[in-house]
Amino acid sequence: MELSYRNGGSIDEEKNEKSDEVDLAHPWNAHVPPKIKHFGWRVLQRAIPVRHNLKKRRMCDEDICLMCGDAAETIEHTLIFCEAAKACWNLSPLRLQFQADNLHSFSSWCTNMGGILKEKLWWNIFWCILWGIWLKRYAWCFEKKEVQVEEVIRRAVSIVGEYEKNEAIGLGGIVRDNVGDVLLSTCHKLMGCYDVDIAEAMAARHFLGVAFEAGLNKLTHESDNLKLIQHLNSRKSDNSYFGLIVNDILHLAGACQFIAYSHIGRKGNSAAHTLARISKNYVEMRVWLEEAPTDVNTAIAFDLAVA
Ligand SMILES: [Zn+2]
Repeated sequence: MELSYRNGGSIDEEKNEKSDEVDLAHPWNAHVPPKIKHFGWRVLQRAIPVRHNLKKRRMCDEDICLMCGDAAETIEHTLIFCEAAKACWNLSPLRLQFQADNLHSFSSWCTNMGGILKEKLWWNIFWCILWGIWLKRYAWCFEKKEVQVEEVIRRAVSIVGEYEKNEAIGLGGIVRDNVGDVLLSTCHKLMGCYDVDIAEAMAARHFLGVAFEAGLNKLTHESDNLKLIQHLNSRKSDNSYFGLIVNDILHLAGACQFIAYSHIGRKGNSAAHTLARISKNYVEMRVWLEEAPTDVNTAIAFDLAVA
């Protein structure tokens, strides 16, 4: 008897875009509070009230930086080159160091950073540090208060952490026999925020473990995530977080009597995605043997029809 095992990751349809197609360097794509995204966007539009801009609009006479007194308070000076800003970037987990001579504008700096900051999490920290530098300047100029560099960094990291904590992804998986009868279905909610590829890989790793525990060890693993299936089939893994999970799956799969990986269209995987979606109704992981929850039955029939 051949068993077919399907999994679905992220519950959020709008997150279902390939991570390499997303412009990580754009604040709208960061996972940070809306006010920080909006601030990042305003900086890119050059629409923040630094003194150099105010002087150009004749709203102040002097544009010297009030933090250091050394240079005109342009966007680039305030947020990148002023000693206070530089220290925040250098000492942050991003450890950014840079020279003034190869930088033309904040947006070109962001574009350059795209080659250095390759993970979404780093960009979340990036925008929060940027926001922190702006607040530090505000406190100094308008409240005569000095916010320490360590405080800017600590706050930025904690905003990112808090924001991630409130997010959850749902994982769903289903095991069928060769005539389509359900042998096992399961769902699990994970706190945190993950890219769709990582969510799919985590779902696969999780449910492979569940299938083993139920004594199923001849499996065809089907997923609508092409990247995951390609990596599993070519046994390709790298040092990224995704690569490490792929490694775990390959390791687990070593205990299978038989395992094959196959790519199916998203249309044929709606039961697993429905399970992923309903995971938020449960506090803990749920496993159903020989059946699936009622809400999923329609999706199961649909998957069989398109298969
Ligand atoms: Zn300055």
